[in-house]
Amino acid sequence: MRRLTGIGVSPGVVAGRAVILIQRAQVLRYQIAAGRVTHELGRLERSRSRSRQQLSDIRANVARRRGPDVASLFDAQLLMLDDPMVIPRAVEIVREQRVNAEWAVQQVFNEFSAVFDEVADPYLRERRGDVADLIGRLKMNLRQGLETARDLLRELDESSVLIADELTPSLAAQVDWTKVRGFATDAGSRTYHTAILARSLEVPAVVGLHDASRSVEAGQLVVVDGSGSALIVDPSDEVLARVARHADDRRPGAGAEAERRRPATTADGVRIRLDANIEFPADLAAARYAGAEGIGLYRSEFLFTSAACDIADEQQQYEIYRAMIEGMAPGPVTIRTFDLDEEQLASQAATRGVGGPWAAKEENRGSRHGLRGLRLSLSRPDLFQVQLRALLRAARHGTLRIMFPFVSGVEQLRDARRIVGEAAADLARRGEIVPPVPIGVMIEIPAAAYTADLLAREVDFFTIGTNDLIQYCLAVDRADERVSLLYEPLHPAILRMIVMVRRAAARRRIPLSLCGEMASDPALLALLVGLGLTEFSMTPGAIPVAKQVLADAHSAELRAMGRRALRLATVDEIERELLASLARMSHARK
Ligand code: PEP
Ligand code: MG
Repeated sequence: MRRLTGIGVSPGVVAGRAVILIQRAQVLRYQIAAGRVTHELGRLERSRSRSRQQLSDIRANVARRRGPDVASLFDAQLLMLDDPMVIPRAVEIVREQRVNAEWAVQQVFNEFSAVFDEVADPYLRERRGDVADLIGRLKMNLRQGLETARDLLRELDESSVLIADELTPSLAAQVDWTKVRGFATDAGSRTYHTAILARSLEVPAVVGLHDASRSVEAGQLVVVDGSGSALIVDPSDEVLARVARHADDRRPGAGAEAERRRPATTADGVRIRLDANIEFPADLAAARYAGAEGIGLYRSEFLFTSAACDIADEQQQYEIYRAMIEGMAPGPVTIRTFDLDEEQLASQAATRGVGGPWAAKEENRGSRHGLRGLRLSLSRPDLFQVQLRALLRAARHGTLRIMFPFVSGVEQLRDARRIVGEAAADLARRGEIVPPVPIGVMIEIPAAAYTADLLAREVDFFTIGTNDLIQYCLAVDRADERVSLLYEPLHPAILRMIVMVRRAAARRRIPLSLCGEMASDPALLALLVGLGLTEFSMTPGAIPVAKQVLADAHSAELRAMGRRALRLATVDEIERELLASLARMSHARK
């Protein structure tokens, strides 16, 4: 028996088999039953053959367009697919350790990385990139049909306990908490969202365990003791007997279930609109089930993740948008035009043969703040028009709003509106009359926030995208772990920008919503309502908890909390104010 001490953030005690989630690497490690080994090996083999097919297609395309020398770069990866240290090694890991295929593939990568770290030869070290690329592809193909770690989370056996490096609210919102009985995380210095989530979900939780996700094995029996602030690994019979005695104390995890159908309001009846963010048409069902009033953000660029959609095919896009609009009716659907960057577009171009400036320039690869979003669309009006025509046609079938991503100024907005006008004129020439469609922009670049008053004159609505706004405002690359602690939604600059945008929208009386991850975090949501926002779009699974938290809050108290937060100077002070206010409010209601 081993006892790890952390911070208990939600009371109660439960036992279960450990499921390990490494959120940063997007891998889930769990133990599989002996009878599932063959199934897991089948998934590995299918992933290998899909990867081989894709790499051969890409190689042939690149050879045709850029010559055999560039194409030969893919030979290394094709060869690696047959290397005994890759798939056969992963097979061995699945068999010996009885773990899922994703984790076996990740372990293969870890083993390669360890070897590359030792070699001095720069040529060989560079091969690390090829291995990383190939492993990423194998993992992507293992996910075929399972879109993210969260889908795997739905496949878990009863009575699991989730042990994660960190648990973001959006991921927590996807877990089936009737199966996962409690959770423990390594992270924990900032506990506002995890704590509130755990209490709302009514599952025991311990945070701040430092390395639990590395030191606990998948499938090991563990006890989460939220009341005693501990994670007990391989508990003794005596501890298990104590857990059994307390089993009745545990209330069902689906406490938020009854809230689903009710529209969101605060305790004093202020109406708050909750829409859903979705990436795939199939997510529509989850949005409806969660009680979303509409779709506040459909990230249309996800159409290309499966290579099933052609960027130049208007009819195909029209049918997808139409089905989505009809599926959500009478609720509105906000479709964001493609927020692709050059690299993503280049891979679409490679498989579809769309050439021209959309093919990535080598020196710009991976730059997410380069030619991206609306800027990229404006650089290819022909392809942009395809999407706009498909959208305008689909608008006839329900309530659609079109939204542009990554806008940094009024000029781009005017250019984009002009192209919308041209697309509508094209359709009119074809005899297709389209209804007027509200046009909005995402406020996700600081320049857009600072010019919100100017933009507000020329758009029909705003949506604040805090995911990008935070990273660009605070100059923190979210992909760079070394500065990830500086990625602070509660930074005074962020709160001020949000208020600035709210005022600009209010002055022109245009609707304003917020669709960044912040909205999925119940504590931050309470603060945002306190700053005067009343419309949000979030990951569908976060909606029931959001309703519950709002129903317990009084708008006047939230506003007072918002005013106090705006006067504070540091993230810590704001966070303390937020926690203290929420604790006071919840105490007063009891
Ligand atoms: C955002 O930037 O906040 C946002 C919602 O867009 P995405 O996460 O797709 O960049
Ligand atoms: Mg964004």
